[in-house]
Amino acid sequence: MRIAFPSAVCLSSLFAVSGFAQATPQSIADAELSSLVAIYKDIHSHPELSAHEERTAALVAKELRAAGCEVTEHFGTYDDPKLKAYGVIGVMKNGDGPTVLVRTDLDALPVQEETGLPYASKVTAKNDEGKDVPVMHACGHDVHIAAFIGTARALAKLKDQWHGTIVFVGQPAEEMGSGARALLKAGLYDRFGKPAFALGFHDKADVQAGHIAITEGYTSANVDSLDVTVRGVGGHGAYPHKIKDPIVLSAEIINAWQTIVSRENNPLDPIVVTVGSIHGGTKRNIIPDEVKMQLTVRTYKKEARDKALAAIDRIAKQLATAAGVPPERAPIVTVRKDEVCPAMFNNPELTKRLIAVWKRTLGDDNVEIVEPTMGGEDFSEYSLPDHSIPAVNFHFGAVDPAKMAESKKTGTELPSLHSSKFAPVPEPTIRTGIIAMTMAALELMKK
Ligand SMILES: [Zn+2]
Ligand SMILES: [Zn+2]
Repeated sequence: MRIAFPSAVCLSSLFAVSGFAQATPQSIADAELSSLVAIYKDIHSHPELSAHEERTAALVAKELRAAGCEVTEHFGTYDDPKLKAYGVIGVMKNGDGPTVLVRTDLDALPVQEETGLPYASKVTAKNDEGKDVPVMHACGHDVHIAAFIGTARALAKLKDQWHGTIVFVGQPAEEMGSGARALLKAGLYDRFGKPAFALGFHDKADVQAGHIAITEGYTSANVDSLDVTVRGVGGHGAYPHKIKDPIVLSAEIINAWQTIVSRENNPLDPIVVTVGSIHGGTKRNIIPDEVKMQLTVRTYKKEARDKALAAIDRIAKQLATAAGVPPERAPIVTVRKDEVCPAMFNNPELTKRLIAVWKRTLGDDNVEIVEPTMGGEDFSEYSLPDHSIPAVNFHFGAVDPAKMAESKKTGTELPSLHSSKFAPVPEPTIRTGIIAMTMAALELMKK
């Protein structure tokens, strides 16, 4: 596979190899790359579901210790006392100076991998409902872990260029939106210091490897998760006049929910209402008593969020009334408190500062300014409650440049994050993640 590196990066690597130049993030990334790709492949073939990241966390702890960090394991407190927290905190001290938080996530997803890679996951595990599910690193958190370990190694070797304390955070359960909150609830900032800056990163499935992608200001949406049970009165499928059918009612409710976006909301304030799961019934000729649905709702503004959540409840209940469902069988609409995360805000001043550093070191053409998305990211929690801690969560491309070019030419969509076919090209992706994160930390902590 042909991989394009920015020419400035290649030159600096050559100098490092010659032994005359000072070590740089680039030269260290090059030297560490084969070991980090081996770690990446190991994690990729051993993915773990959210809140079950035991093996992954132990590996991260071992590597942070080897890089010279003081490491705390099993850190975090979930709202749900049944869940074990596998947070890993590694503190790297280097004299007086600012504290900077650097975070990776650790968890994988219930997806059956279809990449055909030699190191593809064959893992299945029990989910929290006790059901066997396939598991895959379909969001690239394994790439983040490899780049995070590489960043720790690089900053350990570059201690003459920075001062202060780096708090490396291996965060569980990003995909549930509850991992960052679990670490903060356990006293992350009381115990390890409130950071002056927080830095996170995520791979991107529509940007070429070697490139950074960044958005100034709001970059990912508020995420709310809802459970809805539409109740009816079940009976024989041949006697609709004797029952109240929750399946037909659910269909009406789902369609009516889409009018929240199209008919109730200011079109300039984005809202997404997605029903991702619907289950009801057991057999063709039985009308069930209830239908269960799971929703994700994405918004930016508080007013849009309040409006969407209230409208989901109102529409479900009033359509049930219209269908003649008795009041005691009204739909139950629950906004979950455990799977929620606020919108991510990239501090504009910090974003501008990092863009300048990356452009200087990676080249202007390798830093892309991208639009915000309705995706969710619980990295937002680290700067809350009021964005008082300047934070930036940046992206780095994960796609083979040749495949990017082909996709642009043919118009064929590339596999997105969470796709069973998402396969980041490891070397340039991890390398760019290390360089960008190390450069960012050096900029904020330079002597
Ligand atoms: Zn994800
Ligand atoms: Zn992710």
